Amino acid sequence: MYTSIVRQSRQSASNVCVFLAAIAAISPLQLFAQDAYVDQGTIRVTILGVGAGARGGNFDITDSVGLNISTLVEVEDKAFLFDAGRGALDQISKLGGGHLAKLDHVYLTHLHGDHNIGLPDLWLSPIRMPEGGRTVPLQVFGPVGTEQMAFHIATAFDYSLFYNGNLSATDTLIGKNIQQGIVYDEDGITITAFDVDHSPPNVAPDDRENYPALGFRFDYAGRSVVISGDTRFSENLIQYSQGADVLIHEVGGAGGGGGGMGAAGMGGGMGTAGRGGHHTSILEAGEVFNRVQPKLAVYSHFPRGINQVLIDQTRTVYDGALLVGTEMTVITIGESVEVTPGNDDPSTALQPAVGSE
Ligand SMILES: [Zn+2]
Repeated sequence: MYTSIVRQSRQSASNVCVFLAAIAAISPLQLFAQDAYVDQGTIRVTILGVGAGARGGNFDITDSVGLNISTLVEVEDKAFLFDAGRGALDQISKLGGGHLAKLDHVYLTHLHGDHNIGLPDLWLSPIRMPEGGRTVPLQVFGPVGTEQMAFHIATAFDYSLFYNGNLSATDTLIGKNIQQGIVYDEDGITITAFDVDHSPPNVAPDDRENYPALGFRFDYAGRSVVISGDTRFSENLIQYSQGADVLIHEVGGAGGGGGGMGAAGMGGGMGTAGRGGHHTSILEAGEVFNRVQPKLAVYSHFPRGINQVLIDQTRTVYDGALLVGTEMTVITIGESVEVTPGNDDPSTALQPAVGSE
């Protein structure tokens, strides 16, 4: 009979010494392989997944594609993951082992399954990878409840850890609750969390604080990217996004005022206008982009199959550079903002600012 080694070892996890992982060589054979080191002064954003809801809105279980939202942000030899949706580990692995080896900070916007269902895999699977895996504990930061969630995930896999021998520093999953404010400030990198509102539709205003959700702003070398998390239209997000180079915003789709998750038939069961109110509608997102005026506005976290609708409706209210995110799209924020689309679909190509061509 084994006993819970997670519970026994939890206390020591906080005393673990974090060290820099070796950067593994990248195999040129890997389809999306990219250098794990990012040139100084540049932020590299890799969109690993954009899907909202269960299986990213893909309910055809014969189709293996059902990735959820995850966004990798890299600076020099550091990597930060924002949300860990379905398939996050596999997507990062496609980039090459060096990316996974340096990833030890995960930031969750909130604790919905489409944002954290990939976390157990991301934590547990790389522990004993012979090379290219993580060699330090995985730390996960998020709104109230994150610490408890991480503890229970670790406990759920207790037997695997027990079977494999002593719990080491590498095996630990450390969860920390965070609130609005600066949550990381090292080596010229600042990560700021800010409150957004993803409380359920029709919830009483006094009750909204029971549904914490965060957006994040990442600043480095005078460059910046903001990730909205799931939110209805948010004045606080607009405030925290001022001056940002890139704004990655969720969108609920074409349906319903107040941001229903998809027009009927588009959300694939993710909810219709009638369930809406906790996401941002396309026109609302356009208004957010107008008030922030980022160099590049990006959509991530939306129902499948509405890319062209997103472009067309946004263009009725917003003229700036626009990108509908897709898996493995890379955005480089340096002297200029550059986009490498993840596929050949014209709807995922950069839409230049109106009049700039
Ligand atoms: Zn979501």
